[in-house]
Amino acid sequence: MVKKWGLRVTTLMFRVEADLHCHTTASDGLLTPQELVRQAALAGLMGVGITDHDTVSGWEEAEATGRECGLEILKGIELNTEVNGIEIHILGYEPEFEAKVLQEKLSFLRGARYKRMLDMIGRLNSLDVRVRAEDVEKFAHGESIGRPHVAQALIESGYAHSLKDAFTRYIGYGAPAYVPRYKLTPAEAIKVVRQAGGVAVLAHPGIQRLEGSLKEWVDQGLQGLEVSHSDHSGEDEARYRKLALEYGLVPTGGSDFHGEKRKPGVKLGGWGTSLDTVFVIRDLARRNRIKTTS
Ligand code: AMP
Ligand code: FE
Ligand code: FE
Ligand code: ZN
Repeated sequence: MVKKWGLRVTTLMFRVEADLHCHTTASDGLLTPQELVRQAALAGLMGVGITDHDTVSGWEEAEATGRECGLEILKGIELNTEVNGIEIHILGYEPEFEAKVLQEKLSFLRGARYKRMLDMIGRLNSLDVRVRAEDVEKFAHGESIGRPHVAQALIESGYAHSLKDAFTRYIGYGAPAYVPRYKLTPAEAIKVVRQAGGVAVLAHPGIQRLEGSLKEWVDQGLQGLEVSHSDHSGEDEARYRKLALEYGLVPTGGSDFHGEKRKPGVKLGGWGTSLDTVFVIRDLARRNRIKTTS
């Protein structure tokens, strides 16, 4: 009897109620915001964070579907930054949509993504790989174009047989049509999120074992740490949960869902937080705004 109760408490404690890291067709996810939120509701989630790369264009549709399905939508973005050759991803939750500083930065980053796609096409063409910008744009339904869309065009036109193959032979790091993407520094990303009144969170720190610079980023305005993530081991999760507590950061979590085909094995709602975290983050953003405007 006691054992049964113990099991029940454990299950309750670890139940994912909100998946706070999801990508839609607004960037490189495979589901539209509407499809994603509906799938989240079917999976029994109560909250979803929309964190597309460099765009907020998925928010409106996600919120409308959230209202329909009774799901809380946490509005976010993911900014992939770099410092000393290391990629560091910063999530920004609940920034003010109208904030000029945010819109200008995102629009600049998307422009750089588009130009980089044209560069990749140029390189591919010089390798006699006949893929056109239109073929890539067809897969990028949204406005934030990434390498997964180029890979899809390569597969469709028969130049690659899988996503992995497309990256290995053409567009992955070190491959002949690889073009680096323009990247902000983590400090710049944290700054833009905070200037827009949002909550800056360090995404999946376990991938790069990022803890050395944590203090520096906290001083720059970081307010959260992604503890639960599909690339984290149990030990990672425990370590980052402890660090979050130590630095006074909000522990967050999410799957990094991009669609089953784009990230096999990464299920929507497989990683995440309690629903409470959504409210804690919103509240923090509200308080940031009071500070920003005063
Ligand atoms: P981008 O932001 O345009 O450089 O694209 C980065 C995305 O490409 C990542 O989020 C991954 O989903 C995907 N990606 C990067 N490297 C590979 C790889 N070797 N195989 C498959 N997908 C990859
Ligand atoms: Fe992505
Ligand atoms: Fe990421
Ligand atoms: Zn992501």
